[in-house]
Amino acid sequence: MSKERAYNFSAGPSMLPLSVLEDVAANLVNYQGCGESVLEMSHRSAEFKAILADAEQNLRDIMNIPDNYKVMFIQGGGTLQFAMVPMNLLRKSGKADYIVTGTWAKKAAKEAEKYGDVKIVASSEESTFTYIPEVKKEDFRPDADYVHITLNNTIYGTHYPYIPDTGDIPLVADMSSCILSEEIDVSKFGLIYAGVQKNIAPSGIAIAIMREDLIGFAKEDVPTYLDYKIHADNGSTYNTPNCFAIYVAGEVFKYIKSIGGVAEMNRRNVEKANKLYDYIDSSALYNCPVRKEDRSLMNVVFVTGDADLDKKFVAEAKQNNMHNLNGHRSIGGMRASIYNAMPAEGVDALIEFMKKFEEENK
Ligand SMILES: *Cc1c(COP(=O)(O)O)cnc(C)c1O
Repeated sequence: MSKERAYNFSAGPSMLPLSVLEDVAANLVNYQGCGESVLEMSHRSAEFKAILADAEQNLRDIMNIPDNYKVMFIQGGGTLQFAMVPMNLLRKSGKADYIVTGTWAKKAAKEAEKYGDVKIVASSEESTFTYIPEVKKEDFRPDADYVHITLNNTIYGTHYPYIPDTGDIPLVADMSSCILSEEIDVSKFGLIYAGVQKNIAPSGIAIAIMREDLIGFAKEDVPTYLDYKIHADNGSTYNTPNCFAIYVAGEVFKYIKSIGGVAEMNRRNVEKANKLYDYIDSSALYNCPVRKEDRSLMNVVFVTGDADLDKKFVAEAKQNNMHNLNGHRSIGGMRASIYNAMPAEGVDALIEFMKKFEEENK
């Protein structure tokens, strides 16, 4: 028995725009009448070269990426970037400063410890990562090779309300769970990276946007594939890339362009998130533990305060066609991930369900 499409609140992989899915489906067997599917196509073919070039150009357009930045599509997701960052950017003092605002930030720092001298400059772990610490330029080691932040914390539902000022030290940001949800001044960063399965495409790649003068410092023993230079010099096709994920990413970039760009995407995201937070804050049953200024537009965490009731909520929501509302397995509770592709109707349906559940479980 088939079921109508659900509202999928998963933290990742997550929903893609329906129009993109339909377009991909219509072209799946015979891409634009070329006689082949993108699933079968050579990465050296004229068709795929055009897909890749368009994807990069459309991303450059919607993010306003300056010309002195390279765009790379790299396999291994966000996690491989945790290793590639220190392998490529520890190029002078061997020191890197990390701000730890959640599980992913912690993992990134831990990976860097394998390669260099890592200092945790600030952390909000003592309060279960419910806020973003304020960090000033003087807090960083002046000779650090880079500073690393996680802009949106997927598990804890926080987001930086500011971009740390690191002076001349390159700022590296993991934007896996917020890329393209808000306008970003790329020139403030040395390197931006993001696994694509939250806001862009099916899983399998990460996108790296890197200032050119930072490329080319990997040590001799760094594996070829893990040197950003190999990807930059070969236009993301040094070896066979994940062609299908790049193709879907390109379709999503076109979609964002068509609705009015990242500014319009952000306007919709703010509207969705405000509605949900306002309801949570007004309700007697649900509570959001995150400091108001630091709340994420993408991942809305909340609890009832009763673990059994939380479980019941998640199960009943599923019966009502709202999937994956459970919090991360490490913290429990609920989490509604309302990425770019979650329609406003999905958030409205969730709020209606929450009201009904509150009424029934007073
Ligand atoms: C999901 C996520 C990751 C990990 O991504 P993978 O592609 O699964 O390796 C890293 N950082 C953040 C902020 C994430 O949300």
